Amino acid sequence: MPVAKHGIRKESLSNGSRRVCEGLQQAGFSAYVVGGAVRDLLLGVKPKDYDVATNAPPEEVHRLFRRSRLIGRRFKLVHVMFGSETVEVSTFRAGDASVTDEHGRVLRDNVFGSREDDAARRDFTVNALYYDPSTETILDFHNGLRDIKHKSVRIIGDPRARFREDPIRMLRAARFAAKLDFTIDDRTREPIAEMADLIGNVPAARVFDEMIKLLLSGHAKPCVVGLRKAGLHHGLLPMLDVILEQPMGEKFVMLALDQTDQRVLAGKPVSPAFLFGALLWHEVLAAWKKFQQENHKPVPALHMAMDRVLDLQTEKLAIPRRYTTVIKEIWTMQPRFEQRSGRRPFALLANEKFRAGFDFMVLRAQSGECPGELADWWETFQHAAPDDRTDMLKAPEQGEKRPRRRRRPAGKGDKSGSGGESETRQNSHGDAS
Ligand code: ATP
Ligand code: MG
Repeated sequence: MPVAKHGIRKESLSNGSRRVCEGLQQAGFSAYVVGGAVRDLLLGVKPKDYDVATNAPPEEVHRLFRRSRLIGRRFKLVHVMFGSETVEVSTFRAGDASVTDEHGRVLRDNVFGSREDDAARRDFTVNALYYDPSTETILDFHNGLRDIKHKSVRIIGDPRARFREDPIRMLRAARFAAKLDFTIDDRTREPIAEMADLIGNVPAARVFDEMIKLLLSGHAKPCVVGLRKAGLHHGLLPMLDVILEQPMGEKFVMLALDQTDQRVLAGKPVSPAFLFGALLWHEVLAAWKKFQQENHKPVPALHMAMDRVLDLQTEKLAIPRRYTTVIKEIWTMQPRFEQRSGRRPFALLANEKFRAGFDFMVLRAQSGECPGELADWWETFQHAAPDDRTDMLKAPEQGEKRPRRRRRPAGKGDKSGSGGESETRQNSHGDAS
C-alpha cells in the first residue's frame, strides 16, 4: 500500500532502522521495518524500539554492520547499534510445527523461510505489517491495516492452534489490547478462558519476561482489569488469580499497578522488585497468619511465609534472585514500622532500602491494611530534625522487648539457650516495685 494511503514517510523512522534497511538493500537484500514499530507509527504513537526483517542470513547482517552482535537466544538475531539505538534484525523464518512438546507447544522456530512465511508465523495481524522505506510502501499479508482501523487484536490463523503453539500469545493479546486501547477480536478471545492453563507449561523464565513487559507497559492496570472483566485472569496471570479474589488484596494490587503505570507514563524509574513484592504481599500475609496460628513466633513465621510464597511462585514464574533479595527485604521491614520506641526507628531509617520499604507501607495504609496514622508518623519522622525525632518516639509498649539488661539468674522456667528472636517477656507487673 503506497504512502498516500497510510501516511508513513521514511523520515518518521528512527535513524538506526533506516540505515539498517538501506545498508541491507544496498548489499542486494530485501529489508523491512516490521512489528510493533509499524503498528505504533500508524497509530501516531512513538515506537519503543525498531525491528527489521530481512532475507539476509544473520552472519551476513553481522558482517555488514561494524557495530553489531549476534544474539543467540531461541534463534539467531543480530543487534545493530547506532549511537544509543539498538535495532533488532531477524532473518525471515517459518514457524515449524513439527517439533512440539506433548501439549503442542512449538519448541523450534529457527527455520529460515520466505517473507510470506515470516508474516504468517507472527502473532497478530497488526504486528505483521512490513514497511519498506525505499518505496515507502506497506506489505499487509493478513489485513493488519483493516484491524488497526477497527482497533482489533486478531490472531493470525486458527486461534486454538496458535495459542497451543505458544500459550504466551494469550498474555500478549491482553497486553496489546490494553496498551493500544483495542478490543480482542471475538474469535481470538473465545478460546483463552479454556486454554489459559497452558501458560503453566511455558518455561518460567519466558513467562517472567512477558509478565515484565505487561507490568511495565504503563498499562498494567487496564490490562489486569480487562482480563478480569473477561474472566481471563485465572491461569493467565500466574501470580494474580488468587490475590484478585480477596477484596483487600485486590485493592492493594490495583493501587500498586496504578502507581506503577503513572510512574512509567511519566518516564520515572520503577522497581520490578517493589511491584512483585506488592503483587505477592497478600499471599505472604495469609501464610504468615497461618504459621502464627501454628504457634510460630511472628518473626520466624514471616520468614517461613516469605519462603513459602516465593518458592511456590518461582515454579511458574522465574523471579530472578536479584529481585527476590530486595522483595524479601521490603517485606521484612514491614512489621518493623510498627516499632516506634527506643533505637529501632533509627535503625530502620538507616536501612539502605528504607525508601522502598516506606513507600510499600504507605501503599498498605492507602489500601486500609495498616493505619494511615502510621504512614503519617513515618513521613514526619524521616524528615524531622534529630531532636524532634527523639521527641516523637513512643513509650515502649507492654510486652515489648526492653534493651538487654543483666538479670539475676532466674528460677525454673527460664530456658537457657532461647535467645535471638524469641520474646523476652517483660514482666512489668511482676517486678513493679
Ligand atoms: P512492543 O511495542 O511492546 O515492543 P512489539 O509488537 O514490538 O510490541 P515484541 O515483543 O517486541 O512486540 O515483538 C516484536 C514482534 O515479533 C511482534 O510484533 C511480533 O510480530 C513478533 N512476535 C513476538 N512474540 C511473538 C510470539 N510469541 N509469537 C509470534 N510472534 C511474535
Ligand atoms: Mg518491540
